[in-house]
Amino acid sequence: MKTEWIRKTIQNFEPYFVAPIAEKNVINANENYFNVLSIPAVKQELIEALDTFKPQIYPKPMADDLRKALAEYVDLKPENIICGNGGDEMITYLLGTFLNPGDKLLVHSPTFDMYELGAETLGAQTIKVKDLAGYRRDKEGLLAAVKKYQPKITVICNPNNPTGDLLPASFIEVVLKAADNLVFVDEAYMEFAQKESVISLIRQYPNLIVLRTLSKAFGLAGMRCGYLAADQEIINAIAKIKAPYNLNAFTQLFAQIVLRHKEELFKVRDDIVEERKRLFDELVKIPGLTVYPSCTNFLLVQVESKHEEIFKALKEKDILVKIYRNSAELPNAYRISVTTKEVDDTLLEVFRKELS
Ligand code: PMP
Repeated sequence: MKTEWIRKTIQNFEPYFVAPIAEKNVINANENYFNVLSIPAVKQELIEALDTFKPQIYPKPMADDLRKALAEYVDLKPENIICGNGGDEMITYLLGTFLNPGDKLLVHSPTFDMYELGAETLGAQTIKVKDLAGYRRDKEGLLAAVKKYQPKITVICNPNNPTGDLLPASFIEVVLKAADNLVFVDEAYMEFAQKESVISLIRQYPNLIVLRTLSKAFGLAGMRCGYLAADQEIINAIAKIKAPYNLNAFTQLFAQIVLRHKEELFKVRDDIVEERKRLFDELVKIPGLTVYPSCTNFLLVQVESKHEEIFKALKEKDILVKIYRNSAELPNAYRISVTTKEVDDTLLEVFRKELS
């Protein structure tokens, strides 16, 4: 293949790296440890639904029934929702709908890679506002950058991946007022924060777009289901580039069942939040380690020494965490998804032993 066949903007891209998995306890991707099929009623409803399920028929293009269920969940109208194959696909659609080559995308940094990757693919320029010490967002810096550049899209990941930092909704409202253009708030982890969502502000701000996903608190990462909420005109614009049958019929069905059981899943969410607090309190006590307060289902940790050794020692105990290698922004860091006390106790043991 001739290299010049590849779109110029992506010629230097590395393929997205997904770590090979051999470990029993995979806590590197912020998944939910809980299997929704272990709720007997969920399994039963799914089996019953299969009686009338028709895999030979294309799915509903706008996932009408699921859209209605999601709208109910976030207290908006179905016309305010568009769904697809996980938040990842929705980010691609969002950027593809609004970014021209040369447009500006403003992000805080560090954050989820997909925004910058998507913007670069389209030939747009990413402007970054670095976090303050302790990986807390630079609110003043962000606001100043919004006013200075008036970027086509300002991205706020809230709570932020990988730092866990949560910004108040009041600050996002200030950004919404200052921005002439779009403000995109990624709330993939908002169910774990349980406060500061801006999703209801969609009724007031036609420049606000919010991302949510069923991959985290709802435990459906493997089914791929994410959605954007925004003013109807924004949703209609995004629908122009959406593949007609993007979200498969089985996911549409499964997601509706799981949404009906949200109370059970919120109990699991509450357990994860409790366990996150305990893990944080234990990690804080370990010398040579820094852990950052988080409003999500994961913790960002940095060590003063033995970065690679600890990663290996965890692997030997059958635990895979996300390790940041050669990262100027996140030196000697790991991101650890919170799961169960049992896994966390083993993890704590390794950190204590290696850093003693
Ligand atoms: N946004 C953020 C901040 C994320 O961390 C992720 C998942 N890693 C996503 C969006 C996308 O998740 P999914 O495609 O599974 O919905």
